[in-house]
Amino acid sequence: MIRRVFIASIALGSVISVSSQSISATELPQAKVLYKIDTTDKVVFLTIDDGADKPADAAAELERLQWPVTSFILPTKVGTFATWFSGLGSRNDIATHTARHIALKGLSFEKQKKEICEGERRIKEKFGSTTGYFRPPYGSWDKRTLQAAAACGISHVVLWTVSLNGRTITTWDGKIHRGNIVIAHYVGSLAQSIRQLEKRLKAQGLTVARLSDYLK
Ligand SMILES: [Zn+2]
Repeated sequence: MIRRVFIASIALGSVISVSSQSISATELPQAKVLYKIDTTDKVVFLTIDDGADKPADAAAELERLQWPVTSFILPTKVGTFATWFSGLGSRNDIATHTARHIALKGLSFEKQKKEICEGERRIKEKFGSTTGYFRPPYGSWDKRTLQAAAACGISHVVLWTVSLNGRTITTWDGKIHRGNIVIAHYVGSLAQSIRQLEKRLKAQGLTVARLSDYLK
């Protein structure tokens, strides 16, 4: 009696493993999604989005601080400013933010793929190369975003845990933690945000590191 039960459970186990294999065979590859980096280093990562304005005072602050930044740029905002963006901080790693800045969550795989691939292609055209990272506009994404991003050659879908808006710093729990990814935008108040972040980081003994150094 015991032996029969044992055999039955093995048979059942093999059926389960066959069916889970066939499910995984049809799954598309996905880019990795991240909100922060797991690290014990006393660092955060500064990312800057869109590219609507090109504020000279923000460029001066990044030059003074020599911070590395990662920028998720819209191709329509680059114009003749590719070298301006590339020259910011100690380095500015250029990444993709869709072609038209639309919310992706809920859209079909094909629609999402078109937006991401077109953004990646046009940013490559303007800058020569990209990091292979992608940020979904408004932080709006779903599983198909990760699949579409992978289909466009994107390795990481990068979200954030800290946001800067003028002098206001918004975090998940009121604090900035090691490994946090900080979002800002290319707007007129960017210099103000950078100075505010500098104060907060100094008070906590944190510095800004290069995101791509932690994603190898
Ligand atoms: Zn944006």
